[in-house]
Amino acid sequence: MTRFVGHGRAEVTPEAELTSVDDHLAGIRALLPPPDPIELRLADALGLVLAEDIVSEVEVPSFANSAMDGYAVVAADVVEATVEEPVTLTVVGEVMAGASQPPKVTSGRCVSIMTGAPIPPGADAVVPVETTSGGGDHVSVHRAVAPGTHVRAPGEDLAPGQPLVAAGRRLGPADVGLLAVAGVTRVTCITTPRVVIISTGDELVPAGDRPGPGQIRDANGPMLGAMVRAAGALPFSAGIVRDERRALLYAFDTNLGHADLFVCTGGASAGARDLIPDVIDALGEVTTAKVAMKPGMPQIRGRVADTPVIGLPGNPVSAFVSFEVFVRPAIRHLQGRRDVQRPTVLARAAEPLTAPPAKRGYVRVQLSHDDDGWLAEPTGHQGSHVISSIARADGLAVVPEDRTELGVGEQVQVQLLAD
Ligand code: AMP
Ligand code: MG
Repeated sequence: MTRFVGHGRAEVTPEAELTSVDDHLAGIRALLPPPDPIELRLADALGLVLAEDIVSEVEVPSFANSAMDGYAVVAADVVEATVEEPVTLTVVGEVMAGASQPPKVTSGRCVSIMTGAPIPPGADAVVPVETTSGGGDHVSVHRAVAPGTHVRAPGEDLAPGQPLVAAGRRLGPADVGLLAVAGVTRVTCITTPRVVIISTGDELVPAGDRPGPGQIRDANGPMLGAMVRAAGALPFSAGIVRDERRALLYAFDTNLGHADLFVCTGGASAGARDLIPDVIDALGEVTTAKVAMKPGMPQIRGRVADTPVIGLPGNPVSAFVSFEVFVRPAIRHLQGRRDVQRPTVLARAAEPLTAPPAKRGYVRVQLSHDDDGWLAEPTGHQGSHVISSIARADGLAVVPEDRTELGVGEQVQVQLLAD
């Protein structure tokens, strides 16, 4: 295991000591166990990720039915119908949605029909009630219809063999509707990952307490819990733990049982009280990395008894950005999602966007739209302790490692903070 120690040199961190964002992410990915699918009722699957491709076994609609309330006719009977010279037909019956044996239609006759009702044998079109007059025993049709008009054809929505929902997709309400229509009542999904969160630091007090001298409120616990929930996973907040080796060992040990992923913040850097790497090392395996990013350089990954552990820096902005860059993709992998990254947009920089040499900069930006596309404007002070800079952000503008500044008007990729 490596520790962050000083070397009495001019440069804080030489480039050679940096780990790339992608390498740290790949290291985290390698710690994650394969997903464990379970079969459950469709009604319980909303928000879970499908573990299998689902293909339709049925045809929908399964029978020709009416798209309008009106009259089922033989289209050829009404080709000449106009408002001035309507065609009058004899009404020989009525067919409601759900009817199993609709009356037959022959030339010169029609059947009153409701939306969703089966098209009677012999009929090939539906005249909407609005373009007729009369009713009862006879009806006058004022407008011609072509064969097939207002008829929902069998299989027009779904055909057997048609893909419905692909593995890796998080089921939304529309997917539930689609699967229900196709008669799929049980699905194989990946269970919601449970993510344990602890905040470490002697200076921290719960947000509901008044901080004493030198103390601050725990921002990361509530924020990361909310981020886990927003990512569709189950947060389990294990509270604040002091910078004491025994307290940390106890907190890890007692909470690992609840966790598919363990996330801690603070104690990751070069301070005398930064004990997290030692603690993880004592219980399992750990890698510390100076990741080539700003904010968020000191990062930890490890594993304790098969549970992956991600250690984030304590500064709230660093914790927030690190969550977006490392924890959210890890959660999405555990959820079985194929789309592990959030969407990005290409924007123009409204102000210069800066990053240190050889590091990837994540600048909190607000997005607006004009005739030339998206415009990205930094949300004020970008210090990694300035939590107000994230609360106002729509996205993280990415300044690549080989650039220290993107000028006004230059194109920049912005990782959105919403899906
Ligand atoms: P550390 O990573 O422990 O060196 O902490 C870096 C900075 O983040 C220090 O200013 C801490 O006081 C602050 N910090 C650490 N944890 C939290 C937290 N949970 N909420 C708010 N600030 C924190
Ligand atoms: Mg600390």
